[in-house]
Amino acid sequence: MDKVIYLDNNATTMVAPEVVEVMLPYFAELYGNPSSMHSFGGQGGKGVAAAREQVASLLGAEPDEIVFTSCGTESDSTAILSALYSFPEKHHIVTTRVEHPAVKNLCANIVSMTGHFHRITKLPVRPDGTIDLSLYKESLTDDTAIVSVIWANNETGVIFPVVEMAEIARSRGILFHTDGVQAVGKIPIDLSRTPVDFLSLSGHKLHASKGVGVLYVRRGTPFVPFMVGGHQEKGRRGGTENVASIVGLGKACEVAAQNLDAENSRVKELRDKLEKGILKIVPKSILNGHETERLPNTSNISFEYVEGEAILLHLNQYGICASSGSACSSGSLEPSHVLRAMGIPFTAAHGSIRFSLSVFNTEDEIDFVLEKVPPIIENLRAMSPFWKSGG
Ligand SMILES: *Cc1c(COP(=O)(O)O)cnc(C)c1O
Repeated sequence: MDKVIYLDNNATTMVAPEVVEVMLPYFAELYGNPSSMHSFGGQGGKGVAAAREQVASLLGAEPDEIVFTSCGTESDSTAILSALYSFPEKHHIVTTRVEHPAVKNLCANIVSMTGHFHRITKLPVRPDGTIDLSLYKESLTDDTAIVSVIWANNETGVIFPVVEMAEIARSRGILFHTDGVQAVGKIPIDLSRTPVDFLSLSGHKLHASKGVGVLYVRRGTPFVPFMVGGHQEKGRRGGTENVASIVGLGKACEVAAQNLDAENSRVKELRDKLEKGILKIVPKSILNGHETERLPNTSNISFEYVEGEAILLHLNQYGICASSGSACSSGSLEPSHVLRAMGIPFTAAHGSIRFSLSVFNTEDEIDFVLEKVPPIIENLRAMSPFWKSGG
């Protein structure tokens, strides 16, 4: 395989060259500890402070509302557990059936994490992956400690009306967390006008490195740290800062702000070309997720009567990287919980492929993929007994 066509940007992204560049000095000469009293360490501290401003600027937040963590998963856990510890008398969580495993599996383990039983409302979604706001309103109670909803879905790209949902929670005096890992850098976000109390993001999903994340904590929000130790992050997250990655994340946020328009125009154009092309050429291919309430970079397409894993293996032979909607890692080939929540029929959910683009993709790459996908599907279907009987 001489070249890679990377259409799996919701799984992880390339570290942008300008991000690598600002990180390098912090691995080599600038290795000081930001907490040290000497000015050598202070250089690391300056890098972290500058990054905090860059992140805050992308989000429409204040620098002191930015807490650096190790990843999106840590940020999600910190927000939800903080709310539960802050309101020990409340035993209800509102979330959805389409959360990332970081939230889904935390909720599944809440008793072992907190020692208390919590009632968990997992809001359903419509067949197009969108949410019914009236069901959401009805789900909120005086016992609700926190609402946690994914802003943009990692599998389908479907965007939830988080601004409205946060306003509703605020009006009920309930803390609101959003997993913004896929939304940040892809859609405009202004937390100065969106009453979310917590927002999670992850460096490696927006062209920074792995192992760094952010939890936005609105000023005045009750907060109980998840990592307890030194006084780093104003006592909100113990542990020596991952300075190089934090500095890189700051740069990535600055670049993301500059690329936001390109993401919404050029990336969306490429995504639409790929999506429309496939849906037109390949019979019985179906788009999963709302057509417009969706990230500009994501396309989740079902190919009926074929296995997603088989499609991925064939794409891989041409260097094309994508993801499937069935979790082969579990060995069960269960369709994803997101597609099941949308009620996608079994025959379609099994053959679902997620293509997720970035600003680094080119039109030539999309043309190449459009040339390869139809024969792959046709060949796989020719071997499928289900296609012959069903198709
Ligand atoms: C990737 C992802 C996470 C987890 O982020 P990590 O930094 O890999 O822990 C959480 N939520 C969503 C929506 C994601 O896409």
